[in-house]
Amino acid sequence: MNITKLEYILHYRAQGLIPIPLHDIHSGVCSCKDGAKCDSGGKHPRVNRQTAIDATEKEWKGWLKWWPHMNVGILTGSDTGVFVVDEDPRHGGDQSLAELIKKNGPLPKTVSASTGGGGKHYLFLIPGGMSISNSASELAPGIDIRGDGGLVVVQPSVTQGAYKWN
Ligand SMILES: [Zn+2]
Repeated sequence: MNITKLEYILHYRAQGLIPIPLHDIHSGVCSCKDGAKCDSGGKHPRVNRQTAIDATEKEWKGWLKWWPHMNVGILTGSDTGVFVVDEDPRHGGDQSLAELIKKNGPLPKTVSASTGGGGKHYLFLIPGGMSISNSASELAPGIDIRGDGGLVVVQPSVTQGAYKWN
C-alpha cells in the first residue's frame, strides 16, 4: 500500500507528535537558498517551530501542495514531550552505543528508525520534570541527543537514503 505524505503527518499528529515541513535534497542539492552549499541538506525546517506547533490540518494540506517533495521532521523537547537518541555510525555511534549498553544495560524498549545516513534514532518520552537539551557526541562519540528546540527527520523523508521506522 502506498501511504501518502499527508497520511504520515496525520498519523504523527494523532500520536501526539508535532511534525514540521523540512527542506528536501536531490542529487546533493538542498531546496533552500544555499543549494549544494547547504550543510544540513534536506534536514532543516521550512517554517518556524511555533508555526508547526500551531498548524492545522488545512495548513498542512496547503504546505503539501506548495512543497510536495518536502521532507518531514518531528519536533523534540519539552514543548513536545519527546527526545531522541541519535546514533551516527559515521562518527562511531554504533560502537559507542554498544559500549554504553554493556556498561549500563539495554535501552528501554521503544520505537526506533533507520536514518538516511545509515544511523538509528531511538524515540523516548521525556520523564516528568526533566529537561533535555541538544548535544552532539557529548555523551559518547557519534551519540547525539535531540531535545529542547531540536527535531529529527522521519519517514517518509529521504536524504542520502530513506528514513524508515523499524
Ligand atoms: Zn538547505
